[in-house]
Parts: sequence; structure tokens; C-alpha cells
Amino acid sequence: MSYRGRFAPSPTGPLHAGSLVAALASWLDARAHGGEWLVRIEDVDGPRCPPGMDEVILGQLAALGLRPDEQPVWQSRRGDLYQAALDRLIASGHAYGCACTRAEISAAAGPKPKHGELIYPGTCRNGTQGRPARAWRFRVDGRIDWQDRRLGTQSQDLTTEVGDFVLKRADGLWAYQLAVVVDDADQGITDIVRGEDLADNTPRQIALQRALGFPTPHYLHTPLVLAMDGHKLSKQNGAAAIDLADPAGRLRDAAAELGLLLQARHRTTQETLAEALLQWREKGQVQRAGA
Ligand code: GLU
Repeated sequence: MSYRGRFAPSPTGPLHAGSLVAALASWLDARAHGGEWLVRIEDVDGPRCPPGMDEVILGQLAALGLRPDEQPVWQSRRGDLYQAALDRLIASGHAYGCACTRAEISAAAGPKPKHGELIYPGTCRNGTQGRPARAWRFRVDGRIDWQDRRLGTQSQDLTTEVGDFVLKRADGLWAYQLAVVVDDADQGITDIVRGEDLADNTPRQIALQRALGFPTPHYLHTPLVLAMDGHKLSKQNGAAAIDLADPAGRLRDAAAELGLLLQARHRTTQETLAEALLQWREKGQVQRAGA
């Protein structure tokens, strides 16, 4: 059984307690399957990534003993791959140019933004009426059902809940949805283990995989770490960078979020990771839906 997993941080800030849970879970699951574990720096949204933050994250992972099996890749260097995929989607009719401005979309879309984006009203689905395309969108088509190893059967109607989503933005930047799907396929990723906040992106990604003829990986979305106020811990609400004075302790905290209760006495990251791995296996977290 082959297994290739990955951790794919956006270098908008250093790793915090929440992102470490996703990193650790993806590492544990890859190791539990005797698989490979890769790291991909998701810096497509360049303006949001402070210079040098990629190296900060790679340094944090190394200090925690989480070492990738291959050299990391940077999305900012992979634009040719994304363009080739977009060209294929345009040629097959799955993608189209959109001339609408943000103001036009919000005027036509109604008041209810879902999933962070307004549901596109479909104005340019059948052509831009001679106006130049600003962005490129994916033509969605109905419901996607999918399996998550922790959340079970999931379903989302892309037409009514999401709408035709952006692949390449008006400012020329690649959208996360396209970049992540192209990279996961190009890197031969079989298993995606990431935080539950990303679960509702999965149907968009599966739709893109199908349109591009890529296999759909197995999915496992891990529980979110909540801040004191009950909100998801994130860079936006000021989650602190991992304190690396005691990296084994930080791994223990992250393991606890995954339901793994490790002995307190391990001093090294190596011992801590080894015990976490044993427990991940024992808890039966190894099972992959459909595998
Ligand atoms: N880069 C995304 C993030 O940091 C994660 C993407 C993924 O794991 O699919 O939120």
C-alpha cells in the first residue's frame, strides 16, 4: 500500500499550536502507513507572506523533529504548472473568463456570503459580452459527496452553496483551490491530513480533480484547537508562535489535541514522536476510508 502525505503551511505567520496539530497528524499518519511525508510552502498569496517566514516554519518543524522525506517545494515557483492546468480547464470548458468587478458581483449576488466568498451569480458563464476577462472561474456542477476518515460521509452542493469559484484572481494571483489540487496530484499525494477548517474546501478540490482527470486522495480532517474565547486558534486571532524552549512538550500538547495522552517524562522529540506514533497506531487511526 503506497502512501504519500504532506503538510502544506501558508507562510503568513509562524507555526502555532493549531497548525502544529495538523503538522503532527499528517506526519503520524504517514509514518503509521510506512509512507512518505512532504512539506509544501503554500505561498501563492505572496502579499500575505512576510519574507523569511517560510524559513521560520521549516526551522520550527526541524526543531520539533518533523523532517520531510523530500526537499520542500514552494508554490510561488510553480506558476507554470498552474497555468497549464488552467489552460486545460479552459480548453475542456470547465473554466471561463470573468469580467465582473467585485462591486458588480456583490450587487448581483445578494447579501449572503458563504465560505468567505460571495456566490458568483454566473454573469459571465456564457461569455463576457466583449469585456476583457479579469479573473478565471471554475464552472461548478451540482453536489459532491465525499468521505472523511473522521467526519464520515460529507456532502456539499457546489451550485447552491459555493458557486463558480475563482482559479486565477483579477490581480493575477493563483487561487489556493487550483494550486493545492495541481500540487497534490503532481507530488503524488495519496492522503491529505489537515485541519477541519479546510474541510469545506474539499468538494471544490474534488470537482477540480475530476475535471483534470486526477485521482482523489483519502481525506482526514483533524479537530481544531480552540482559543480561550472558543474561536478557532489562528494567526488572525493572535495565536502565539510555538515556544521551542521545550519542543517535546509542545509535541505532547499537540498529541493531546489528537486524543493521544503521552507520558510526561520523555525529554527528546524523538522519544515523544515514537510514543505518539505507537498510540496513533493503537487508536486505529491508521484506517483509511475505502482502503
Ligand atoms: N495552506 C493551507 C493552510 O495553511 C493548507 C492547505 C491544505 O492543507 O490543503 O491553511
